[in-house]
Amino acid sequence: MKLSVSSLIFALLFSFLLETSASTDENFLQCLTLHSGNDSISKLIYTSSNSSYSAVLKFDIRNTGFSTPSTPKPQVIVTPSLISHIQATLNCSLKHGLQVRVRSGGHDYEGLSYVSPVPFGLLDLINLRNISVDIENSFAWVQSGATVGEVYYWIASKSRTLGFPAGLCRTMGIGGHFSGGGYGTMMRKYGLAADNVLDTHLIDVKGGGGGSFGVIVAWKIQLVPVPSNVTMFTVKRNLEQNATKILHRWQYVADKFDTDLFIRVVMTGINSCQEGNRTMQASFNSLYLGGKDKLLPLMQEKRTEMSWIQSMVYFAGFSSEQSPDILLTRGPSILYFKGKSDYVKNPIPEIGLEGIWQRLYEKEASTAMLILTPYGGRSEISESSIPFPHRAGNIYKIQHLVSWSEEENAAPEKYVNWIRRLYDYMTPYVSQSPREAYLNYRDLAIGKNNEGNTSSSQASIWGCWM
Ligand SMILES: Cc1cc2nc3c(=O)[nH]c(=O)nc-3n(C[C@H](O)[C@H](O)[C@H](O)COP(=O)(O)OP(=O)(O)OC[C@H]3O[C@@H](n4cnc5c(N)ncnc54)[C@H](O)[C@@H]3O)c2cc1C
Repeated sequence: MKLSVSSLIFALLFSFLLETSASTDENFLQCLTLHSGNDSISKLIYTSSNSSYSAVLKFDIRNTGFSTPSTPKPQVIVTPSLISHIQATLNCSLKHGLQVRVRSGGHDYEGLSYVSPVPFGLLDLINLRNISVDIENSFAWVQSGATVGEVYYWIASKSRTLGFPAGLCRTMGIGGHFSGGGYGTMMRKYGLAADNVLDTHLIDVKGGGGGSFGVIVAWKIQLVPVPSNVTMFTVKRNLEQNATKILHRWQYVADKFDTDLFIRVVMTGINSCQEGNRTMQASFNSLYLGGKDKLLPLMQEKRTEMSWIQSMVYFAGFSSEQSPDILLTRGPSILYFKGKSDYVKNPIPEIGLEGIWQRLYEKEASTAMLILTPYGGRSEISESSIPFPHRAGNIYKIQHLVSWSEEENAAPEKYVNWIRRLYDYMTPYVSQSPREAYLNYRDLAIGKNNEGNTSSSQASIWGCWM
């Protein structure tokens, strides 16, 4: 009997799948091949018995706490390179009752892009990372699997005077970062990344991601003007140098500065110069969108002029002399952490700030920090413009963070409890009724849907804008 080419391909794929995964639903995999229109998808499918499965899964996991042997794993990972692969994955998942988790950069604080309590497949967009920049018309099309660092790099490679107002961490995926808002050093002047989205390509199959509406494949973004030279400076003050008083004053001006000026604060413990002692430090991390001659002459601190792309290298955590090529790197990292967020509408009194320092002195807080990001600037953007209701009325946002080591991950409760105690302590000082939180700093402790039993009345008591 003569076999047709397509039935031969199918037979080969089918036997491959049988070999590599005894437990995976073969009908699902068969469905993928048939629905994607060609057999190219077969090379992009990973099941647990495939030797690359674990490496592919771990490559974009940012919170290692969700990468332990007991973490639920996807039955199948699909890394589409074509739109038809996404459509096939969504269609077949729907047909076979498999939940889909969508991952762009894998930075979700709670691992929601690659973990689920029910049987699921992972749609990993790492191969959909094309970026095309149109300098003449000041826009770019970027695919969701690209990283923020790649977007900055390719814009800057074509123009020194255009940029984009997204976040600081170079490895964040565009898909999750833009769909939750996305803020960075230019937020006060140009708003969020999401405010600068002109169009999207979305695949809707009555389900999918965003955590909700569909899979966003690509984004058309408005590039924004940046000066050919920006100025960067960092001022550090510890408790012995009046950190509390300076921080207290910062709260009265941070949201009122010229929108070209961004001064955030990192509150953390450091070793003091007296051996064996710790002290607390407020680090004022600043970017001015202009040359240093224009910056307040009052500023006596060392100010460094550089291109906008070099400032993004610095804010991504590298030396400002490091080549921008570093923005193109991506890969697994080891970081166990818990984060929470708050919005502040009235300056916290000095006594309240002192209470934060006290908590940062506790032993569980040796690596903890609070990052205070100033608002103001584009606060006129209405609450209904995009689903981001945190503009007018907020002076700044706080990100609370605590991390621990791999050895300590067997019992991370003491760190999680520490951050909960801090969060409780903050209650009188932060937004109330509702207590606001930043969607992109995902925190399931403030409430979540029950699988398959979503209730808006239950959600209403969370009292949080997510
Ligand atoms: C180290 C670090 C630094 C950070 N710095 C900043 C910062 O400076 N500014 C800031 O605003 N935020 C920051 N964040 C938070 C970051 O914006 C969010 O974690 C964001 O969701 C990351 O996007 P991702 O694509 O990497 O995440 P993923 O984990 O891939 O996705 C996050 C969520 O979006 C969904 N999703 C992903 N892609 C798609 C898609 N294409 N279509 C539909 N749904 C999708 C996922 O299913 C998941 O629910 C930081 C996070 C980390 C870990």
